[in-house]
Amino acid sequence: MAYEFYDLLGVGRDASAEELKKAYRKKAMELHPDRHQGDKAKEAEFKKVNEAYATLSDPQKKAAYDRSGGTAADSGFPGGGFQGDFDFSDIFESFFGGGFQSGGRGKRREIGDDIEVRVKTTFEKAVKGGSEEVVYERRHVCPDCAGTGSEKGRNPKACPDCGGSGRVRQRMQTVFGVVEQAVSCHRCRGTGKIIEHPCQKCRGERYVVFRTDRKVDVPAGIEDGMTVKIRAEGHEGIDGNGDLYLHFSVPESEKGLHRDGADLHFHLDLDPAEMALGTVKKVAIPVVGEREIEVKAGSQHGKSVRFRGEGAPKLPSGGKGDLIVTFQVKIPEKLTAKEREFYEAIAKEKKLGEVHGKGILGKLFD
Ligand SMILES: [Zn+2]
Ligand SMILES: [Zn+2]
Repeated sequence: MAYEFYDLLGVGRDASAEELKKAYRKKAMELHPDRHQGDKAKEAEFKKVNEAYATLSDPQKKAAYDRSGGTAADSGFPGGGFQGDFDFSDIFESFFGGGFQSGGRGKRREIGDDIEVRVKTTFEKAVKGGSEEVVYERRHVCPDCAGTGSEKGRNPKACPDCGGSGRVRQRMQTVFGVVEQAVSCHRCRGTGKIIEHPCQKCRGERYVVFRTDRKVDVPAGIEDGMTVKIRAEGHEGIDGNGDLYLHFSVPESEKGLHRDGADLHFHLDLDPAEMALGTVKKVAIPVVGEREIEVKAGSQHGKSVRFRGEGAPKLPSGGKGDLIVTFQVKIPEKLTAKEREFYEAIAKEKKLGEVHGKGILGKLFD
């Protein structure tokens, strides 16, 4: 069967090393001989899976296998035994650590969820810093019952199902046999308490949701797609709050100013005469302000001048980007009669008509 190794691990041919490893761990756990005493079929499959992983996890062997069209399954592994240096303790550690010992003792801590907010800001604020108004819903511990869920003067009673612990033990059938695990109690939703007289404000839910309308800082240098985390300002929880995540959305350019990371780019339109003769110009650059820019005689289209450290602040490393002004020749679309005379004089002086022949500039000299 072609490409059987991939099928054995249950992955596609484009699986990454990490995906292969994950798939292998899963299969190896399922099929490990310790779990299937004496089952020859399972043992054979286990060996095959090991062989597949030993081949596909080795870049050279994998390449050879792929080149062979996935048919060289048996070559080089006569015993079909495990050839790699994979550590089995790794597998079982991840297995036990990952699922079956997480029950813990006592009741689950109740931490609020995180809040994610999109913050739209302007190009200018993202460069210089500022603030924006954001609106979102935030869950608070009910102020009337302080999160007990019970009416004032009434106390919740201990949950009879879990005896107030919030957790019950549950038996689960797994590949390792029956395992006992502590899970959150259904009846009291893990709180360990039953509310008999619910609080009027939160109806026993213990939390209330408020609309939050606040100003948030826009850090100078923030870029489109960057996120700022504000600790403990997410949804409230009895044992602690979640975090507030601000995802910034920033336009790429504003009024001809364009941003590339911390660098700011500006295109300066110049008349051909300015570039040929040279000049010093005072230019009002949006966001940045006025800058004096020297255009040397004979400057070319596309030449740029760099103002070091005059770009946006670099986050989070510190320092600042540059401001880069690029010259762009702007050909007059319409000439006055006088300008036309001068351009014709230049063309004559440079013998442009002769260079290009009558076809192009012929009209000038007829
Ligand atoms: Zn309970
Ligand atoms: Zn309440």
